[in-house]
Amino acid sequence: MLVNKYFCGMQLLDGKQASEKLKEELKHKTQVLQSKNLRPPHLAAILTGHNGASETYVASKIKNCSEIGFQSSLIRFDETISEEELLDKIEELNQQETIDGILVQLPLPKHIAEAKIINTIAAEKDVDGFHPVNIGKLVQGEPTFISATPYGIILMLQHYNIETKGKHAVIIGRSNIVGRPISILLSSNKPYGNATVTLCHSNTHNLKELSLQADILIAALGKPGFVTADMVKEDAVVIDVGITRVEDATAKKGFRIKGDVNFDEVAPKTSFITPVPGGVGLMTIAALLTNTMNAYLMRNNFTEDIFK
Ligand code: NAD
Repeated sequence: MLVNKYFCGMQLLDGKQASEKLKEELKHKTQVLQSKNLRPPHLAAILTGHNGASETYVASKIKNCSEIGFQSSLIRFDETISEEELLDKIEELNQQETIDGILVQLPLPKHIAEAKIINTIAAEKDVDGFHPVNIGKLVQGEPTFISATPYGIILMLQHYNIETKGKHAVIIGRSNIVGRPISILLSSNKPYGNATVTLCHSNTHNLKELSLQADILIAALGKPGFVTADMVKEDAVVIDVGITRVEDATAKKGFRIKGDVNFDEVAPKTSFITPVPGGVGLMTIAALLTNTMNAYLMRNNFTEDIFK
């Protein structure tokens, strides 16, 4: 991707730069904790089976923990694990005093009920923000763990001082982990919200008519290159959440990661745009780490004063 060739007003929303800044802050905070002889935050990740993408995501989360001084535990199960065994493990982690955050990498094997697993994670350790209690708090505008990808998008917009108030945000995709929560956040009466939000999905008939109205366009549907230049208003802010592995024999791994936006043709029209890879994915991890630090603080009854 030759970003420099775009000499118009477009600015890249650089997930590497924005996430590194957040990670530096978390690393510093962890060092302060350790200088006070306090243990670091601890994230436990459960991985079932051998899905290539899940393996990559979890490995990256664990690596990022170690980079900033967090403790992490990777718990692996074969895809034949029973629902009961998995529930028992989660109960055990819920009880473990020195574990602050629990994440269960999705998708789970088909014989396991995802909702049952998520509902079993203690809400105060649910750093992925998927538990119904945390979703409920999100809807009510109460402090909670905001699920990592929508939170990462908000952190990205804040990092680049992108105003959302009074803007029209159009979101494509209504999943519980991205589209729906980001629609709630952007429409909420909060500093990061106050946008007018249109949530589009697979049954939206006039998608292009709506996307052309977007000051902020968020694509989260999992269809590589779906958003084309004719669907985007001049100077829009475009956030590409999509991550799809597309086979490519010329690539080292045999595939390339593609976003939901046709970057090369859309970028010149935009004021800001996220690349894929290097955009929202990195922010998602930074948001997860931020949630883990917040879980640690809450569970230990610490406030930000602990870092003074
Ligand atoms: P999903 O796969 O659960 O659902 C896709 C959504 O897109 C549905 O709500 C559907 O209604 C909508 N949709 C599908 N086709 C459409 C069309 N033609 N027009 C309008 N809407 C359409 O969604 P998800 O889990 O949110 O994943 C979406 C993409 O985001 C995937 O590529 C996924 O890999 C990626 N993702 C990235 C991150 C990250 O950290 N960057 C995190 C989560 C998901």
